[in-house]
Amino acid sequence: MTIRQLSENVINQIAAGEVIERPASVVKELVENALDAGARRIELATAGGGLTLIRVIDDGSGIPAEELPLAVSRHCTSKLGDNIHDIRTLGFRGEALPSIGSVARLSLRSRPRDADSAAEIVVEGGKVSPVRPVAANHGTIVEVRDLFFATPARLKFMKGERAEASAITDVVKRISLAFPSVRFTLSGSDRSTLDLPAVPEDGEGLLRRIGHVLGTDFAENAIPIDAERGGVHLTGYASIPAYSRGNALHQYVYVNGRPVRDKLIASAIRAAYVDVLPRDRHAVTALFIRLDPELVDVNVHPAKADVRFRDPGLVRGLLVGAIRQALGTSGTRSSTSGAA
Ligand code: ADP
Ligand code: MG
Repeated sequence: MTIRQLSENVINQIAAGEVIERPASVVKELVENALDAGARRIELATAGGGLTLIRVIDDGSGIPAEELPLAVSRHCTSKLGDNIHDIRTLGFRGEALPSIGSVARLSLRSRPRDADSAAEIVVEGGKVSPVRPVAANHGTIVEVRDLFFATPARLKFMKGERAEASAITDVVKRISLAFPSVRFTLSGSDRSTLDLPAVPEDGEGLLRRIGHVLGTDFAENAIPIDAERGGVHLTGYASIPAYSRGNALHQYVYVNGRPVRDKLIASAIRAAYVDVLPRDRHAVTALFIRLDPELVDVNVHPAKADVRFRDPGLVRGLLVGAIRQALGTSGTRSSTSGAA
């Protein structure tokens, strides 16, 4: 056996195996890029559950024509400097676009705010075509067609159009809660359509976005949370005990604007409700944790949904304390329903 270096395309396809699990992962990465580019409006369209087409149009900063080849090259990013502990953007790994380009047909059409023309680059199954001038408005249009055509084994694992379309809707809903002042639209199959108007970045605006995303009944049965401990800020809403669900899928939690799935946070929420909810019932939450990026590690997994806190006990204590206090001080509705 001889040892040899893998080709760039195989390396990208291996990375894609972790970063791009299904169409919804593509949508997550593209929406993160649009948000990192400062977009105020993000327009999504999909076909075939995202397997045939995913298109994301944003009005963000755009990419200069000469940087388009870098945007689709592995480990090239405009977001991370030399300090891996100071991550202030949703992206930082520089691998989403090259991964997508290695398993699908990707086109990136962009026009920076100060540029008077647009340019496009195309990557199909890892083959990069030369940059060419095109007509486009300011911002970026990313199109992904025939996802996984280059990796048929992965394609076989897709669950069918409706399941993939609904996973896409979930991803957009989830991230939109952290960016209420950004307008999101999604069109695809009928059931997956979304139109989330921009609202102010304050408590009132957040409550309106929550109403649009999670339904007005959650907004009406939620208690505001606002607490701080040791430089960690916690804001958002948590449901009264009378408003609970049979699973924990409706616990939306964000760390510095990034949707996360974290055992420590899930267990803290459970602990906060332990006296007021039976074991098989789960609170609904939209909670936003903000802290110095140096106090949390987001570089745990390529999909960036896992986090590690420098001081897990502090975060847990803050969550349990703040939710319990909120339930106690505005728990009149819950205590009457609990006694009934
Ligand atoms: P990362 O987001 O980790 O930097 P990506 O592969 O997702 O890596 O994107 C590579 C680079 O392409 C980004 O760092 C950014 O400079 C540029 N880019 C990608 N999408 C957009 C967009 N929608 N608007 C502006 N720039 C973008
Ligand atoms: Mg990215």
